[in-house]
Amino acid sequence: MRVVLLGPPGCGKGTQAQKVCQEWDIPRISTGDILREMVRDGRDVGLRAKEYMVRGALVPDEIVLELVIEKLKEGNARQGFVLDGFPRTLPQARGLDSFLQNAGRPLDLVLYFDVDPETLVRRLSARRICPQCETVYNVITNPPEEEGRCDVCRSELLVREDDREEVVRRRLEVFEEETGSVRDFYLSRGLFFTVDGRGGALEVFERVKEILRKGHING
Ligand code: AMP
Repeated sequence: MRVVLLGPPGCGKGTQAQKVCQEWDIPRISTGDILREMVRDGRDVGLRAKEYMVRGALVPDEIVLELVIEKLKEGNARQGFVLDGFPRTLPQARGLDSFLQNAGRPLDLVLYFDVDPETLVRRLSARRICPQCETVYNVITNPPEEEGRCDVCRSELLVREDDREEVVRRRLEVFEEETGSVRDFYLSRGLFFTVDGRGGALEVFERVKEILRKGHING
């Protein structure tokens, strides 16, 4: 199964991506996670990307596209993958499309998580992230067993730097500006499906599974 999960920051696509990957046993490729890892490791690409990320702006297309294509070439992505947070612009969508067409592995579908802006801002301010293993929590709807500590690796949980309210608002604006063209691109190919992203993670996952199964995607 080859799917793209799209949606504004805080729509729950990261959590849903993890669930889909577990259920179908395929890798998750999250550009946000890859970029944050590069920033943490002090890599050159990371340092360039950070300038954009701290402002809530998008990292240039050529940087992100190259990172994704590298991941798609890895062996474990041959059985399928979930792209989380990519593509975010039309050039990214086109670049992905041409790589996958050439590889004879076109996308099966694109899921868009629809959530209203107030809910997004509320969710993001309650979000906590494990800096070590990237597990995501929400202090209201999905808290860790022990306050402030990751259930998986016991690291201390953090608020993401770009989850501060003024940066969140900018990220939402950027998303609105960029995503219309990506949606149109996938709509015209008949790949675009909208999921109601409101409610708890399990409830949303039931909707996701229904769409993926209706799309006759089993492998
Ligand atoms: P995310 O974790 O998906 O919310 O991404 C965090 C930040 O990483 C974004 O605000 C962007 O600065 C950058 N980023 C992640 N994915 C992309 C992408 N596909 N294109 C450009 N920038 C991205």
